[in-house]
Amino acid sequence: MIKVLASGSTGNCYLLETEKEILILEAGINIKKIKEGLNFDLNKVVGCLITHEHKDHSKSVKEVLRCGIDVYMSEGTLNGINLDFDYSHRIPYLLEHNSIAKIGEFTVIPFNAQHDVNEPLGFLIYHPELGKVLFLTDSFYVKNRFNNVDHILIECNYSEDVLSELPAWRARTLKSHMSLETLKETLSCWDLTGTKDITLIHISHDNGDPERFQKEIQELTGIKTYIGESGLIIK
Ligand SMILES: [Zn+2]
Ligand SMILES: [Zn+2]
Repeated sequence: MIKVLASGSTGNCYLLETEKEILILEAGINIKKIKEGLNFDLNKVVGCLITHEHKDHSKSVKEVLRCGIDVYMSEGTLNGINLDFDYSHRIPYLLEHNSIAKIGEFTVIPFNAQHDVNEPLGFLIYHPELGKVLFLTDSFYVKNRFNNVDHILIECNYSEDVLSELPAWRARTLKSHMSLETLKETLSCWDLTGTKDITLIHISHDNGDPERFQKEIQELTGIKTYIGESGLIIK
């Protein structure tokens, strides 16, 4: 199952949970909240993936490492996170665009995201129980085509009509986050045969409209679409 512990610019953390294993996606919330989301049982956790160094994705990296959990990120992201020397005995594993990482039964293929940081990544993840999962956030467009993915978790940050009323937000947001319009164009190019659900994540508090985004994406794709908010569980 997929669990959303938190999503958006105030913090991100998601769990991919199977019978025997849990893969954590992002550590952008307080470690206490992460542990709470895991029901204080870290035994099943096989690793934690980080997309980039912004605090809403990486806040608790040190604490996660300290719990003995392996953390995976790009070299650019590691350089962007200020890890104290004390933690150098357990440093994150480095991931590269188009490489393959085996983490327990999970197979992870990282790919480049398009965001205003060093080396942001998105992840295509496979697990025999879950199938294929796409995780992409904080990326203003997607170069790759992802066809026949079982579960899509993808950013839908803002809509261009709302943003145009707020010029101060425009410049940075346009070059760093995915709009509803770009997401629609993107999903129209992908083969969604076999896709079971789409979860819209990292929706902007100020420039987003979750219900509208959910409705429009579901209407466009004909696929069950969820608002990726804290507490959501997809079985
Ligand atoms: Zn973010
Ligand atoms: Zn970011």
